Amino acid sequence: MRGGLDRSRHGETSEALYLNSGFVYPDAETAAARFAGEDDGFVYSRYGNPTVEMFEQRMCLLEGAEACYGTASGMSAVFGALASQVEAGDHIVASRALFGSCFQIVNTILPKFGVETTIVDGQDLDAWRAAIRPGTKLVFLETPSNPTLEVIDIAAVAELAHAAGAKVVIDNVFATPILQKTLPLGADIVVYSGTKHIDGQGRCLGGAILSTKEFKEETLKPFLRHTGPSLSPFNAWVLLKGLETLKLRVLHQSAAALSIAQTTRSLNGVKRVIYPMLDCHPQAALCRDQMTAGGTILTFELEGGRDRCFDVLRKLQIVDISNNLGDTKSLITHPASTTHRNLGEEGRAEVGITEGMLRLSVGLENTDDLIGDLEQALSA
Ligand SMILES: *Cc1c(COP(=O)(O)O)cnc(C)c1O
Repeated sequence: MRGGLDRSRHGETSEALYLNSGFVYPDAETAAARFAGEDDGFVYSRYGNPTVEMFEQRMCLLEGAEACYGTASGMSAVFGALASQVEAGDHIVASRALFGSCFQIVNTILPKFGVETTIVDGQDLDAWRAAIRPGTKLVFLETPSNPTLEVIDIAAVAELAHAAGAKVVIDNVFATPILQKTLPLGADIVVYSGTKHIDGQGRCLGGAILSTKEFKEETLKPFLRHTGPSLSPFNAWVLLKGLETLKLRVLHQSAAALSIAQTTRSLNGVKRVIYPMLDCHPQAALCRDQMTAGGTILTFELEGGRDRCFDVLRKLQIVDISNNLGDTKSLITHPASTTHRNLGEEGRAEVGITEGMLRLSVGLENTDDLIGDLEQALSA
C-alpha cells in the first residue's frame, strides 16, 4: 500500500504521475556525472522514471524480491527475462503448458537465434530430470498453467535446475504474488503481466521482472535499456493504484472461483471442472503446499464440444466473452478457438485442451449472480 511512495514537495496523497520522457540537469557537470553512473538521478524515461520506480519498489516489497524491472507488457517481461540471459548454443528447458506467446518465444523465436529448447510435460518430474543437463542455462515454467491449470512442483524442479547450474524463471501470472511466493521455493526470476490481476480492471498493459539486484544491474539493464520495452509512466501509475487493492480483489475472486467451481460440477452437461483447490484436481495436495488459495480462474469441460460451448457463451448474460483474465468483470473464453487456436489440433491435444473446454476468469460481481448466470446458460 505505502511502499515505494516518493512524495514530491507538494505532499500529494496519491503517487504523482511523472509523464515525462526526458530530464534536465542543473549543470553540465551533473549531466556528465549521471552518464558516468556517479550520480543516480534520472536520465531518460527509457532508462527509468520516478513513477515507474515507485511501481517497481512496491512490487519488490510485495514479492519479497531485491529488485524489479517494470516493462511495457507481460510478454516483454518474459522475453526480457529469457533473452537477456542466453546466446546461440545455450539450452533452455520449458514446460509445455505455457501461455500462447510464451510458448512461441521458447519454441520458435529463441531457436531462430540458435538457442536450443526442450519442451517437457511440466507435471512429470522424470521428464524434467531427463531434459535438464549440465550446462542447461535456463528453466522456464508457468504454474498454474493456462488454461488447464496444471500445477508444477516448483521446489523439485528448482532443485534439479540448480544442480545443473541453470537459473529458474517462473511466470507467476495465474497465481499472483498474493497466492504464491516462488522465490522461497527456488525461483531465481519471477515475471508478471501487470495487465492481468495487478491492473485487474481492464485498463492498460504492463509487466514486471523480479530478481536480485545483481541480476537487474548486470543482466537486465544492459539488455532492456537498449532494446526499449519500457513501461509507460502513465501505465505504471495505473498499476500502482491496482496494487493497492490487489490483495482484496484476488482473495475475493479466488473465494468466488472456488465456490463457482464447486457448484459448476453438478450443473447440466458439465463433464469436468478443473480448479487447483478441488479435491478432484490431480495435484490437489501440491496446490495446498504451494499456494494459499486456488486462484481466480477455473476451467470446465462440457459434453457436446464446440457447438455446445458456443451456445453457452451466447446465452450468458453477465459474463462477457473475452480472452483477458484477472479482471474485476468476469470473462469467459473458448481456448481451442481463441487463445490456443495457433497450437493446432495436435498441439492442443498434447496439453489437454479440448473442444468442450471453457475458461472462466471470475470477477467481483455477486457470486450468486454469476452462478445463476451459468445455471441459466447451461440449463437450456
Ligand atoms: C497475459 C499473460 C502473459 C502476457 O502478458 P501481456 O501483458 O499480455 O503481454 C504472460 N503469461 C501469462 C500466464 C499471461 O496470462
